[in-house]
Amino acid sequence: MLIDSYQRKLNYLRLSITDRCNFNCVYCMPHGMRFKLAHEDILTYEEFLVIARAAVSEGVTKIRLTGGEPLVRKNLIKFITDLSELPSPPELCLTTNGLLLDDLADDLYKAGISRINISLDSLDPDNFKSITGHDEFDRVWRGMETALSRGFKQVKLNTVVIRGHNDHELADFARLSLDRPLEVRFIEYMPMGTVGYWSQDKFVSNAEMKESLAPLGALTPVESGNGDGPASKFRLPGAKGLVGLISPVTQHFCSSCNRLRLTADGKIRLCLHSNQEVDIKTPLRSGASEAELAAFLRRAVINKPQRHHLDQSLDHPSNRAMNLIGG
Ligand code: SAM
Ligand code: SF4
Repeated sequence: MLIDSYQRKLNYLRLSITDRCNFNCVYCMPHGMRFKLAHEDILTYEEFLVIARAAVSEGVTKIRLTGGEPLVRKNLIKFITDLSELPSPPELCLTTNGLLLDDLADDLYKAGISRINISLDSLDPDNFKSITGHDEFDRVWRGMETALSRGFKQVKLNTVVIRGHNDHELADFARLSLDRPLEVRFIEYMPMGTVGYWSQDKFVSNAEMKESLAPLGALTPVESGNGDGPASKFRLPGAKGLVGLISPVTQHFCSSCNRLRLTADGKIRLCLHSNQEVDIKTPLRSGASEAELAAFLRRAVINKPQRHHLDQSLDHPSNRAMNLIGG
């Protein structure tokens, strides 16, 4: 078992499989930002698989693939199939910007992905282009519709709310939950270190987001299921789907954090908002066995910080942009 010093059981592993991306979101990887990782520093699928196997042997039950944009990495479907064939296979989830989803949804489903989170920050094609740097709203929309028409257990839309960018679109987003089995989730914009785009005036709290949804009618709270993640969930009157609010800044959920992150360059990142990382690539490339890697993970997690302190200070010390961690 992976248990930290605050008795939290870490059973959810997020794999950032690449730092590369086909979008240039202004707040994450704006045009001109160079990819940081050299090809040889990025773990191979075989290496990810060895670590995943060790993690599963220590009680990890859920693995999420993220990035960068995970769908740009070649031979992804084979990797997912391999993950799905691990002993005691974990639930496999994916976070994507949706650009390649229309093409890949079928294969992802067949390979074993059960839940997909699609990041979408605007429903207006021009605004979408100004946020992502690419005129591709229609393709992402098609990808979402395709994903919804397949058998995935769950499809969620994730929207990072940024004042002046998309805070005027929240009601339009929430209305998508009326006639689709979608969970539309609004996420507070977090100050991540290196990009330098964050500022207090762009920040919108979950409380303010909720107020702006008031004209749509009462938001009825919905119980979260076990392992459902940190969103507070609500249903609009008569809606098929749900609206979720995620407040990493104003109401942190650290006491119930069950996450462990592995970066594409082989660092175990113990908390999204702490630079404390543990290098697992070195033992891996020095030939450590699965049992040794499992023991390494058990030792590493003991140092997971109790909580982040974004509610006290928004001077974010992160040495990595989000595309290097995976969200
Ligand atoms: N490329 C994929 C995507 O966009 O879904 C996966 C990686 S992306 C880094 C994961 C998530 O992190 C996206 O939903 C993105 O919007 C979110 N994200 C990036 N920077 C963020 C920030 N500063 N605050 C909150 N969420 C952020
Ligand atoms: Fe790419 Fe996702 Fe970052 Fe946008 S948020 S630049 S899609 S990694």
